[in-house]
Amino acid sequence: MSLSRTNLADLELADLEKALEARGFDRFRGRQIYRWIHKRNVTDFNLMTDLSQALRVRIDAEFTSETPRIVADDRSVDGTRKLVLELGDTRRIESVFIPDTPAMTFCVSTQVGCAMSCGFCLTGKMGLVRNLTAGEIVGQVRVLASATGLLERPFNIVLMGMGEPLHNYDNTMKALRMLHSEHGLSVSPRRITLSTVGIVPGLERLAREPLMPNLAVSLHATTDEQRTALVPPNRKYPLAEILKACRQFPLKKRSRITFEYVLLEEVNDSAEDASRLAGLLNGIKAKVNLIPLNPAPGIPYRRPSDERVDRFAQILADRHITVSVRKSRGRDIRAACGQLIVEGGTGKSAAQQMALLMR
Ligand code: SAH
Repeated sequence: MSLSRTNLADLELADLEKALEARGFDRFRGRQIYRWIHKRNVTDFNLMTDLSQALRVRIDAEFTSETPRIVADDRSVDGTRKLVLELGDTRRIESVFIPDTPAMTFCVSTQVGCAMSCGFCLTGKMGLVRNLTAGEIVGQVRVLASATGLLERPFNIVLMGMGEPLHNYDNTMKALRMLHSEHGLSVSPRRITLSTVGIVPGLERLAREPLMPNLAVSLHATTDEQRTALVPPNRKYPLAEILKACRQFPLKKRSRITFEYVLLEEVNDSAEDASRLAGLLNGIKAKVNLIPLNPAPGIPYRRPSDERVDRFAQILADRHITVSVRKSRGRDIRAACGQLIVEGGTGKSAAQQMALLMR
């Protein structure tokens, strides 16, 4: 047995084939193994019944195939499910299943924690623990699809769980390629939305990707001063640069960039904010998704009233901007936007972390 066994669940098909060949196995076994792992969510080599018993034993001696383990599965009254998944190093992440919106949607994480520290987001309070590997990002989707009976049915993916996808660029894009593979779940990039705080070099790279997901940009403010206060990376990548990258972003016919805007009462939800937002988006094929704040302990902002949300939305609509208000799903199980935080990351219990946040 080799000292460190390669984890086959982290490899794109071509690399998996190479890894097998390098250890003297037939290349065509790669497809079989990839399909077991990524199409059927079977990672135990012993259960791969189209490989001979002897072959399974030899492969098991040379390789591993890691998969996230479900350690909690909470169900909201609205049907949303939040899965806590444990990774190989016992770190934990959260992934959310949101049914009927109108499609089935998986909200997946790209990092353990997050380095962006947006002022209204609980995950940001954790700090960044580490990047997820491509295998872990793909593993979440596979495990969610299996747990919800959707391995053979279409679903959407939003990269809106824990983490900033463009801060873990390579692993995120590798994961999208693995999900897209016809030997895996064949997820069309049109069904995937990548949500970012607006890391400009990442946006420029993304603009050249052959496999292009839908883009959502978390704007949340209309002046640099206010945005820097709420979304600290704005200091490095200010509004004008983000909007310029958006203007240059290649869009397919009829597709638009979504701009997310968290509404914080009396912070960024005035009529002037709404008009300024409409002005900023002038000339961009945009739609706006308003997200009334999901409050949480330690978050020093309030959710505006429905009337204030409606007024903000109306001003945008009057300026001919397509606008939607995100329903917050799964708030009773802390599965809504900005509420994902898990114990284990910092070595403290959830209760200890909460206590820290409340100080
Ligand atoms: N890092 C990515 C994904 C974040 S989660 C990004 O910044 O886009 C998806 C959305 O939820 C983001 O727009 C994020 O700003 C928003 N969000 C974070 N905390 C929130 C909260 N407490 N209430 C409502 N939305 C929140």
